[in-house]
Amino acid sequence: MIALRGTGISSGIASGPVVYYRRTQTQTKRTSVQDTDEAVARWQAATQTAISQLEELSRKARAEVGEEAAQLFETHQMMLGDLDYTERITSLIRDDHLNPEAAVEDAGKEFAQMFSAMDDEYMKARSVDVLDISSRVVRILSNCDDKGITGKTPVIIAADELKPSETVQLDKSMILGFILTGGNANSHTAILARSLGIPAIINVDGPLRPEYEGRTAIIDGSIGYIVIDPDESTKEYMSKKKREEKALRTMLEQLKGQPDDTLDGKHIKVYANITTPSDTDSVITNDACGIGLFRSEFLYLRSSDYPTENAQFEAYKSVVQKMNGAPVIIRTLDIGADKHVDYFRLEEERNPALGMRALRICLTRPEIFKTQLRALYRASAFGKLSIMFPMVTSLWEVQEAKRICSAVRSELKKERIQFDENVELGVMIETPASVMIALELAKEVSFFSIGTNDLTQYTIAIDRESTAGLEKFYDAHHPAVMRLIDMTVKAGHDAGIWVGICGEIAADVSLTESFLRMGVDELSVSPRAVLPVRNAVRSVNLSK
Ligand code: PEP
Ligand code: MG
Repeated sequence: MIALRGTGISSGIASGPVVYYRRTQTQTKRTSVQDTDEAVARWQAATQTAISQLEELSRKARAEVGEEAAQLFETHQMMLGDLDYTERITSLIRDDHLNPEAAVEDAGKEFAQMFSAMDDEYMKARSVDVLDISSRVVRILSNCDDKGITGKTPVIIAADELKPSETVQLDKSMILGFILTGGNANSHTAILARSLGIPAIINVDGPLRPEYEGRTAIIDGSIGYIVIDPDESTKEYMSKKKREEKALRTMLEQLKGQPDDTLDGKHIKVYANITTPSDTDSVITNDACGIGLFRSEFLYLRSSDYPTENAQFEAYKSVVQKMNGAPVIIRTLDIGADKHVDYFRLEEERNPALGMRALRICLTRPEIFKTQLRALYRASAFGKLSIMFPMVTSLWEVQEAKRICSAVRSELKKERIQFDENVELGVMIETPASVMIALELAKEVSFFSIGTNDLTQYTIAIDRESTAGLEKFYDAHHPAVMRLIDMTVKAGHDAGIWVGICGEIAADVSLTESFLRMGVDELSVSPRAVLPVRNAVRSVNLSK
């Protein structure tokens, strides 16, 4: 039995085999093949596997994101069978004796170049698709599954770190837990783990040795404890703890339907954060009264090209419809920093967290912003939708974003497309600069939502994705952050708008009373944290 320690960042106990996350091979091997029949057969088999994967992705996208996203994967299936494309690959293998991996890669690049030289915008856009399908086949040929895990049974994933784009691609039904040697409690992988209710441990102290692969582990995400090859008494202890956690959960379930009111009657909005439309089911099951943060950029992260207006419209509409009139706050695209998407072709930056991200991208490339805003306003006709802007540092950014919103509204009016004229706009307070100008910002919008994950990173100058070696300098409850929250609430209230917190700290029940005493009006947390926060709110007496 081997015991390892780390930092628990998503509670719960999981038990199962450990599997290492494998990254897609970036270097395609190039060799000369003699048996070209065998090479062609290998390529054809890989193509069949790719088609099955795409069928599955299309089915999932139809259920989780919408029809248009599903059709993209269907187009990819068709492209894999395109005669010109397949003939070119066959010729590279048979005539040039190229190995199938290199043949598929070369053909993909040639076709991508050809498409991007075309005048027709639709055909131009196909260059990304042909590269995508080709790299899928190359990954299969190289035994690098694009899901990072290959088996058919659920596993505990071990890795150094996981990027949000990697986590989002994982088949969630196959993950029992995460153990990472790096990571940070505020990273997007941690956020996803919590929102899915998957136990997770970061900063694991010992090395995750290759020989642990395939062996059974039990992990306890609430205390950051990992046991490889657990003995009988550990197994017994862990299952007892699991039963206790279940009993606690059953107690919290009794709070469903109860108001989020303090003992002295102050109402607090307890909302939930989501990353995909399918998370809405969990919001409803956990009885949240609204959605305080829909991280819309995950629609972009899951896609191999810019999601169209219609694809986004369908996604937003499905969420507001499911919420049936309850508030849904959707934040505009927050790509950049740790959330990297190839097709945005953003320049490499030395400090991406301080670079081109979020609203900065939207104001630099307004065509992307407008597509999203059109989809958001169109979806507003189907429920109670609000829009908020991330990563604000200056007043003009909000004024410019509002001007683009107004242009979009005029366009929709002209086209006689319905939307809600009263969509509220909000600002995320995520930078110290935005706190310092909060009074001016508050005059422009209807609410503030404090993004403490970024606010903490920018205030105490520690990368939220990795605290490696900096643990003793990192303080999630840093007094500077608490004071900035307090200042924001005061500025918001002075200007007559409500103020919420949607960063991970909103779920920290040891701080609920402090937040309520500061006057925070809303706490938006991962769906599974809604009932624990409701419990905490209901035990506070502000009159005392
Ligand atoms: C935050 O920064 O606190 C926040 C809620 O946004 P994200 O975690 O997605 O950056
Ligand atoms: Mg943020």
